[in-house]
This record gives sequence, structure tokens and C-alpha cells, in this order.
Amino acid sequence: MTSRGAQATVDLGALRANLRAAREAAPRQRVMAVVKSDGYGHGLVAVARALAGQADAFAVTDLAEAEALRGAGLRQRIVLLQGPFTGEDLERAAAEDLEPVIHAPWQVEALAAARLADPLTAWLKVDSGMHRLGLPPEAVPEAWRRLAGAPSVRPEIGLLTHLACADDRDDPATRRQLEAFDAACAGLPGPRSAANSAGVLGWPGSHYDWVRPGIMLYGASPFTAARESDPPLRPAMALEGQVVAVRHLRAGDPVGYGAAWSCPEDMRVGVVSMGYGDGYPRHAPSGTPVAVAGQRTQLVGRISMDMLAVDLRGLEGVGEGAPAVLWGDAVRAEEVADACGTIAYELFCRTPPRPQRRYVDRGGA
Ligand SMILES: *Cc1c(COP(=O)(O)O)cnc(C)c1O
Repeated sequence: MTSRGAQATVDLGALRANLRAAREAAPRQRVMAVVKSDGYGHGLVAVARALAGQADAFAVTDLAEAEALRGAGLRQRIVLLQGPFTGEDLERAAAEDLEPVIHAPWQVEALAAARLADPLTAWLKVDSGMHRLGLPPEAVPEAWRRLAGAPSVRPEIGLLTHLACADDRDDPATRRQLEAFDAACAGLPGPRSAANSAGVLGWPGSHYDWVRPGIMLYGASPFTAARESDPPLRPAMALEGQVVAVRHLRAGDPVGYGAAWSCPEDMRVGVVSMGYGDGYPRHAPSGTPVAVAGQRTQLVGRISMDMLAVDLRGLEGVGEGAPAVLWGDAVRAEEVADACGTIAYELFCRTPPRPQRRYVDRGGA
């Protein structure tokens, strides 16, 4: 730890335990562990190494991420979720044995026309209703035939789609998407895949042959409304600082930039070594939960670049040097995200190089 005490601790055992939870929810499926965006901010290579014994494949966004995994010696199957961005990407994908997702007509044509030194495995993406990437359902059979007849494409072509609303277990859009996916792929052979974490945990009908958990591997719920009956996930990241000053303030004393918050009574306020320069969201409002020395309390005042302030009322024994958990076990990233009007995904992905990242292994499948 640096003496400042700001760090992001990643528990590799939690990653493995969460992957096991995905397998238990989808026991007959293969698992493509989604490690894009630097392993959701947890460190791409470290996450992939931790999961290498359990994941059947990894999914990343682009070649840079895939090549980092290959460069680190990972030999697993790797799917490029956004496929090639240029024709030249196909050569590099084939050379590294990467599996591009083909989602646009130009990619179908480029791959069908390619004469690659090594053939590659391709996944065809169906737009079943999200209307982001993917071929419209009616274009799928013809695109599949083009790829199946292409010299540089291995015979087994995967069929994949992405769910827009699976995080809401009551939204009928998911069922409609699955029906559209089934209809688009009717009669075509090859493995199918639709489930993100919310699909894994909430929509058994989306499991098909491969599931693609992301956020749940990192220990955050994919659902807008988590339920008691959801399998317990272990937060993989703890974002921590420490109390670097304790202030005894009077009723009416303002705290922090803009004097945006004032003490309602005489009270102690702790200053914690954690700020937006460490990835903690600046727009976290007063009242957002924080755990200081294991006890839950709340933020007060605006977040600074390197510091934030916490309410120490009722935490009498707590003094300078006390640890503060901004998210982790005692305060979940989902709670902080809720308070900030965002999702845990964004909080994780925005963790910058500072604070120091530290890897531990507290055990797990
Ligand atoms: C990011 C992503 C996933 C994983 O989604 P989570 O909600 O994090 O589980 C799965 N599939 C695709 C295509 C993705 O882009």
C-alpha cells in the first residue's frame, strides 16, 4: 500500500467463486467470461489468469485486448465482441487464433472474400431487437451461407445475440428477443449464445450453448432489483482509503468545495484519502454510504480530487488511520452506483491507474 492508503484491492478468489456461481446457474452451458474494458476495471490479464482454469473462452472488445491476453500467454479461445474494425484486423485475428463476431454486412463480405493464412472461427451476430450491433434477422440465413462457404472460415459458426432488457426480470422484451433470435437461426447449425449475467441468473431460456457473464464475475448484481433468492456474489474489488484527519466542527460549519454541506450540529468529520482522481465519482451526493472501520456511515460535502469527507457521528472510537471502504463488502458498489444515478459497471470501469491496484486471493472455487 502507498502511505496515502488509497487502493483498489482485487480478490482473485472472488472472481473464481463468481464464475462458479455462473456455472451453477447454467450447468450445461459453456462459459465465455467477459473481460473487456480491462476486466471491467479489475485488470485484464490478472482477471483472465485467475479465471483461466474455469473459463471455456474469454470475450473482449477488440484486438488490443485480445493481443494483450495472448501476449500474457493465455491460450484459451478468445471472442472479439465487436469483430474486425478493418479488413486487416481479420489477418491479425487469424494469426492469433481469435474469433471475431461478425455483425455488419461489410464484415460478412470481407470475411467471405478473405484468403487468410489460417482459417478462423467466426460468430454471427443477430440483432434480435436491441438495435445496436448485429444483422437484421432476415439477413442471417444468407450471411450464414456466405460464411459457411468461405475458405477462411472454420465450419462451426457460432450464432449470437445480445439482450437489451434482461436486467428487468419482468420485461417482456427479453422473451421477444429470444423468439426473434430463434426464428433468425432456425435450421442453422452451430452453437448459440444470448445470455449476459442477467440472462444467466434470470432467464434460463436464454442459456442456449454458451453463456457470457460479465458483471456478475466481478461480484455485482446485474439486476435493477436484486432479490434475496439471487445467488450470493462476492465483490471482487474493494476501493479503500483511510482517515487522514479528524475534524471537530461546530454546528453550521461548511465542509469542502462550494460549502455545499454544513454540519447540522457540533460533530466530528473524517477526511478520507480517496477522491475522484482515484475513480470515486465526484457526483456522489452527501448521504452516500461509506464504511469506516467496518461501520457504515455517509459522505458529507463534495468529493475532491484526492479526498472526501465522512460523517463520524456515532463512530466514537474511530480516529486517524482508520480504514474506509468506499465499495467492497460492507458497502456494495451497486449502492454507491444507485446513489450516483449510474451502474456498478461504470464505477468499476472508471477506476484509474491511481489508486494502486493490489491483488489478493482469499480463496474460492
Ligand atoms: C459486455 C457484454 C456481455 C456481458 O454483460 P454483463 O451484463 O456484464 O454480464 C455479454 N455479451 C456482450 C455482447 C457484451 O458486450
